[in-house]
Amino acid sequence: MLQKKKRLASYIVATLIVTLLINVAVTWIFKSASQEIDYGTFLTMVQNKQIESVEIEDDRILITPKDTQNSSSSDKKIYYTGTLNDPQLVEKLHSAGVKFSTPVKNMQSPILTFILSWILPFAMFYFLGGFLMKSLGKKMGGGAMSFGKSNAKVYIEKKTGITFNDVAGQEEAKESLNEIVDFLHKPSKYTEIGAKLPKGALLVGPPGTGKTLLAKAVAGEANVPFFSLSGSDFVEMFVGVGASRVRDLFQQAEKNAPCIVFIDEIDAIGKSRDSKLGGNDEREQTLNQLLAEMDGFDSSKGVVILAATNRPEILDKALLRPGRFDRRVIVDKPDLKGREEILKVHGKNVKLDSRVNFGEIALATAGAVGADLANMVNEAALRAVRMGRDIVRQEDLFEAVETVIAGKEKKDRIMTEEEKSLVAFHEVGHALAAALQKQTQPVHKITIIPRTMGALGYTMQMPEKEKFLISKDELVEQIVVLLAGRAAEEIVFKKVTTGASNDIERATGIARQMVTIYGMSDKFGMMGLESIQNRYLDGRPVQTCSTETSAEIDKEVLQIINSCYEKSLSILKDNMEALCKISSHLLHKETIMGDEFMEILNSIPR
Ligand code: ADP
Ligand code: MG
Ligand code: ZN
Repeated sequence: MLQKKKRLASYIVATLIVTLLINVAVTWIFKSASQEIDYGTFLTMVQNKQIESVEIEDDRILITPKDTQNSSSSDKKIYYTGTLNDPQLVEKLHSAGVKFSTPVKNMQSPILTFILSWILPFAMFYFLGGFLMKSLGKKMGGGAMSFGKSNAKVYIEKKTGITFNDVAGQEEAKESLNEIVDFLHKPSKYTEIGAKLPKGALLVGPPGTGKTLLAKAVAGEANVPFFSLSGSDFVEMFVGVGASRVRDLFQQAEKNAPCIVFIDEIDAIGKSRDSKLGGNDEREQTLNQLLAEMDGFDSSKGVVILAATNRPEILDKALLRPGRFDRRVIVDKPDLKGREEILKVHGKNVKLDSRVNFGEIALATAGAVGADLANMVNEAALRAVRMGRDIVRQEDLFEAVETVIAGKEKKDRIMTEEEKSLVAFHEVGHALAAALQKQTQPVHKITIIPRTMGALGYTMQMPEKEKFLISKDELVEQIVVLLAGRAAEEIVFKKVTTGASNDIERATGIARQMVTIYGMSDKFGMMGLESIQNRYLDGRPVQTCSTETSAEIDKEVLQIINSCYEKSLSILKDNMEALCKISSHLLHKETIMGDEFMEILNSIPR
């Protein structure tokens, strides 16, 4: 694009320069061959019979003087002068024996005149216009000027260079996609037996889990071209553009078969058509075209369509029926083992200390997706460079985890001594509640160094192993841990602060889910009161009960919170010595690790 613009500019400049040069040259030649004289001189020359011939034009008189001895014929000068209203001129010239004439008007051939005055301007406009249209159309990316025959921004990568080895922790997804790879390798193996392969597979999962990566890996494994387009690329201002792009895409794909067509973020066009907020003509047409094309093409040729989305529930049902995207590949958040493998894949690209243990990092990053983990490894490498090292250590990785979870350390924040000690007691409150209950996760680290994302300090717990089921008792204990920060403030300082807002929000969230989703309250039993929407995005719950029930839910939640807070208070009151001792140690050291914490706690007799 830039190249073309540059070429256009240089073309224009060159044309201008050439025109200018021609102009200058013509004027110069004319000037040097002729000379202006005044009318009086002209008359004198006529009287002196120095003039050979005269040509009288509308606005000037061209004078050819007689040959003189001292001038060669080659540089014979021509003079000219303006015309005056001089009725006797003709008589004077005649009597002086000068040849005179005036150019005959309109003696040019009528065809030439016609060409010059009609065809030439027309042709010029035509070419200029065509040229402008072309360059304008290109500039607008095939927009306004060329919407009929869209030059869809189909993006082919001949070789993606990515294989299944680059995608870690998605074994099930890889397994389902392996069949597609095999099919692209040897379509005949399947067609001979009469098997039809799925025309398309839909990759579904939360953002950053590797859907785009997987699609590229399929192309890489199968060693076929990869047509990639984002759903939003189809949709433009003009109705019909999207549909023609879909047509275009499938045409190109069939020409290049076997190949993979990948439509990323397909929800942009595949949204259900029965939307209540009035239709969107363009999107619906695009979707219809896509449906038609998917029906129309012959899958035995080896075109496989992959699409990715994180909102499968809003997709049009027609898109999901067998014969279109009949296969759904779930690309979920990685589990412990998956996270460790992803870390290893990305760890290959950085220089690692031999003591680095990715297993530990994986334990500390429950809920993180592939993109987060890739980011953490990179953050760790950046930190190592900042520290002036040429190798990444375990501490860099841990620090990176914390940076991604809680933001960067903010050491320059000035806090009063009282605030600092309040934060210390608050955090040790959490830590003690965690350590003194049975089913909670062990404390990994306590710190009172503020972070950029708002935390003034925090207690990091780390599970010993990953769990998939959580019991009611464990949830209650989690709430107790969350509320113990505020409990410590109240017991020690006899006042409460805003520092517990995040704890309260999370504790309330857990308590509410216990009541509405997990069926863990006595009052409602197993009645489901909320359902989760957008499971792969924010997972926001939506109430499915009446307003009266809603008020009852609030009472129930309040009761859980209150009883948990009582428990937090009693745990801390029973362990005041540990609370004070560890807090003053923390205040002094600012960060203590889990084993240090347990050592002090165990040294106090209970
Ligand atoms: P999605 O399309 O699901 O939102 P991407 O495929 O674009 O996510 O992933 C973004 C980046 O995260 C990838 O380029 C890769 O570096 C990293 N990543 C995500 N998932 C994985 C995985 N399972 N294995 C290795 N890297 C991953
Ligand atoms: Mg993606
Ligand atoms: Zn807290």
